[in-house]
Amino acid sequence: MDFNELGLTGPILKGIASENYDKPTPIQNAVIPKFLNNHDIVGIAQTGTGKTAAFVLPILERLIKKSKKNSPKSFPVLILVPTRELAMQIIDKIRSYGKIIRPKAVLIVGGAKPGPQIKSLKDGADIVVATPGRLLDHVKSKAAYLNSTNTVILDEADQMLDLGFMPSIKLIMSNISKTKQAVLLSATMPKAVRSLANEFLNSPEEVNVSPSAKPIELIDQRVFIVKREVKLKFLQDIFNNHNIDRSIVFVKTKIGANKLASKLKKSGIDVDAIHGDKSQSQRTRTLKNFRIGKVNILIATDLAARGIDVDNISHIINYDMPNQSELYIHRIGRTARAGKKGIAISLCDVSEKRKLKSIEKLIGYSLYANVLNSSETLLISNVKKNINKLDKINIKKKLNANEEIKKTKKRNLAKLFSKKAKKRFAPKRLKLTQQDKHQSLERLVRKSNKRRDGKSKDNDLQNNNKKKWKLFLKKRKPNKRKALLNLDDSFHGTNN
Ligand code: AMP
Repeated sequence: MDFNELGLTGPILKGIASENYDKPTPIQNAVIPKFLNNHDIVGIAQTGTGKTAAFVLPILERLIKKSKKNSPKSFPVLILVPTRELAMQIIDKIRSYGKIIRPKAVLIVGGAKPGPQIKSLKDGADIVVATPGRLLDHVKSKAAYLNSTNTVILDEADQMLDLGFMPSIKLIMSNISKTKQAVLLSATMPKAVRSLANEFLNSPEEVNVSPSAKPIELIDQRVFIVKREVKLKFLQDIFNNHNIDRSIVFVKTKIGANKLASKLKKSGIDVDAIHGDKSQSQRTRTLKNFRIGKVNILIATDLAARGIDVDNISHIINYDMPNQSELYIHRIGRTARAGKKGIAISLCDVSEKRKLKSIEKLIGYSLYANVLNSSETLLISNVKKNINKLDKINIKKKLNANEEIKKTKKRNLAKLFSKKAKKRFAPKRLKLTQQDKHQSLERLVRKSNKRRDGKSKDNDLQNNNKKKWKLFLKKRKPNKRKALLNLDDSFHGTNN
């Protein structure tokens, strides 16, 4: 299909033409017509599939036909995203696709001064691209109104969930009219995201352009098992011995990012670090320098894993393995964008092997792990490439078979243990049962004695009472005694 068959018209098609896109990507093919037909949409899409244009283009198409003026502090379209970087990228795309219609798009993100944001919202806007926390601040302080918002996009919903934005999103959504049109896009679909969609979307159409969370096939994934203390040396090997156009090195912590950046700089490799502790202006400058090629290597935390849409990133390096396997997909998704190829290199130490296993479980196949001795030099071309599909299937079968063997071993071990335990504890158990028997016998004897004692006591009491009664009767006058004796007989149930 061509862009002009999707329901987009002149000004938007011109915007697309200036981007030199030949054809719509699968997600654009699927989402644009549905969006223009007013459907709510849930889209599962990999990073780098062209999903931004999938919602920005129909939004712009709608704006062409819009006649109503924006009310103060209000906006018809809201795009919610997890990070400032992604928000800025979307604003950039709105500006380039919307070159001709020039919509008023306002950026509302944390880490920037609220004053200018409030000012730009004063007369209303066509589109607001926001991170949830800061938007909610403006809504609470009445600097932004949500009552005329009729279109909401939730982009990278699973990351918003990870970053703890869900309560803010729910609050924002509950303040927007129920008749709105909503689109939720996510790379993965955890339960919480699914229930968010169920709660706030109206019988959404489902669009799934990628099988659940599989990495893009064009990425050549290489894994090296190395010792932690030599990771820096191997990283230097990668940069010193290969042609790296543009690369992002992912690390676990902000401190780790700073330390690694300064070590690399000292060794003559030009890098810059980007993470959440850097100010917004620093982050913007770093990204700009990376985009224009002033700096070719970024050391980043996972905050930057998503949303960075920089062309021609040739290598992604996992210096630290990601804590969640989904992050692996987002990290490596920074390369091989828009049909290009890319390499993802993971430096995995022994303590991180479990993380590697869970990544393999998520992607559904095993990755060749090349073990490197500390004295070796890391050369990408010298190592086994990623496996082909047939291998993948065989490896999966093998993994399943191994799994089965492991399970049977476990079961047998458990049986053996229970047999051994039975044997070991048999004498003790015998002693215990004998003790038990003895105790219950004693208890029985005690009980029966008690009963017998109780009976004899009762008999004694009855005999005593009879004797007393007879003595008492003897002392009475004869005629009265007779009457009383009759009474006594009837009292004791004697038949005359
Ligand atoms: P996204 O998934 O929205 O971050 O887009 C990834 C990259 O694909 C961006 O660099 C876009 O400029 C590019 N792109 C989007 N749509 C197309 C298309 N139809 N043809 C070629 N490239 C595209």
